[in-house]
Amino acid sequence: MQRIEHIYINGEFVMPHGQEWFDLHNPSTEEVIGQVRLGDECDAQRAIAAAKAAFPAWSRTTRAERVAALKRMHRAIAAREDELMEAIVREYGAPSERGRWMATYPADVIVQAIDVLEAFEFEEQAGIARVILTPVGVAGLITPWNSNAGFICNKLATALAAGCTAVIKPSEMSAMQTQIVAQALHEADLPHGVFNIVNGRGDVVGEEIARHPDVAKISFTGSSAVGQHLVSTGAATMKRVTLELGGKSPTVVLDDADFASIMPLVLQAGFANSGQACIAGTRILVPRRRLAEFEQVAKEAVSLIKSGDPRDAGTAIGPMVSAKQWERVQSYIRLGIQEGARLLAGGEGRPDGLHAGWFVKPTIFTDATNQMRIAREEIFGPVLTLIAYEDDADAIAIANDTRYGLSAVVLGQDLERCGQVARQIDSGRVLVNTLAHEPRAPFGGFKHSGLGREMGKWGMSAYLEPKTLLMEPGQPGRRRH
Ligand code: NAD
Repeated sequence: MQRIEHIYINGEFVMPHGQEWFDLHNPSTEEVIGQVRLGDECDAQRAIAAAKAAFPAWSRTTRAERVAALKRMHRAIAAREDELMEAIVREYGAPSERGRWMATYPADVIVQAIDVLEAFEFEEQAGIARVILTPVGVAGLITPWNSNAGFICNKLATALAAGCTAVIKPSEMSAMQTQIVAQALHEADLPHGVFNIVNGRGDVVGEEIARHPDVAKISFTGSSAVGQHLVSTGAATMKRVTLELGGKSPTVVLDDADFASIMPLVLQAGFANSGQACIAGTRILVPRRRLAEFEQVAKEAVSLIKSGDPRDAGTAIGPMVSAKQWERVQSYIRLGIQEGARLLAGGEGRPDGLHAGWFVKPTIFTDATNQMRIAREEIFGPVLTLIAYEDDADAIAIANDTRYGLSAVVLGQDLERCGQVARQIDSGRVLVNTLAHEPRAPFGGFKHSGLGREMGKWGMSAYLEPKTLLMEPGQPGRRRH
């Protein structure tokens, strides 16, 4: 049983003022495997004060100094890959392939931030003005449980690259990953106070960050409901807010697609991260005249997908992170049946032969409409919904008939037609015949899927305020072009 007692403030592991202990579970067995002591409002305030005190010096560091610090951070995190992998499997239940990606991503994303920083233009000329991009101040970074270490490293590396200091409120359910990241960052020997980590509940520590006047910006990844709440709370102190929220992403299968060859992509997109992925392609739009054929191919393919022990190399879908999440997914499966959709695969309960662990059967509904709640609400589990469409225009209309707009996949043989469909989908990212990722491109959502962007120069700009400098002609400081 691991006990995580300390939080990290001003370059030190310190005892929190908060007294509450929170149980950490292994979702594959349901056993309690650890406990984390949660910080409270006082701890959040101490962390914010430390970040505020560190800001003037850090914001004035040179590009070279920041690059050097990020390189130390990268080395320290990369050295912990195997430890992170073990924590991710134990505490989150990621299957091995996904788990390995989640253990390498935190280091990779720091390299990506270094690349952005090295090429970033902090100043440019606009007519007779000099525009200087200035770090916004202390950033509050709030992460969810479905890729905690990766989100911490991405947000922190970008904030530091921009010259901001940070207070991190990680998911309380991912404390083992947080502990490994905190130890690595401590070894990276960054100036005291530039980053601080406070484990705690969202409505306690997260809330304090959201209302505190010394926090200038929030970068949040999580549910749309909490994201909206942060915007309204942050408005009182005029916080800059970047939100990466949920999705109900469409996978548009065009009528010339070869179903056998695209099905692995369809299912990988839908069941990504055991279905607990904001970008998961959970609405599969299929041409009505080929629906029966698609159902047949999908049913065969899904019967080969194993949901179970994440340590088993053949497992594609691990457990849901918590009992609450398992119950939520089960309730949506019952809802789909009540709404009149037909189960093509899966259904309620655990997969055959499993008697413990928060495992869900890979589930596909068909005979569904886009108005059903299973097609409109984010389930966050391995539950997909097939929706028939008439022609390309209908497919685009259904794809866009959602409050979300994070990601979309278009699959078909005619690339020009795929491209035309892709351009008409209202979504932060559209993937055509691929599930590739491009870290230099912006990531984020339209509509309720978010606000602003992360990654690349767009992600960095979100931590900066443009300052326009106009000087009397001939005065020092004005550059002539
Ligand atoms: P959540 O919104 O419940 O929690 C996310 C974080 O916010 C946690 O650290 C939580 O403690 C904190 N929080 C909760 N209430 C808060 C409050 N009042 N003030 C401040 N912080 C608060 O989400 P979750 O259940 O941890 O994660 C799942 C959700 O995250 C899904 O909806 C998913 O779509 C979304 N998500 C989005 C992305 C993306 O990049 N767009 C990526 C992963 C997950």
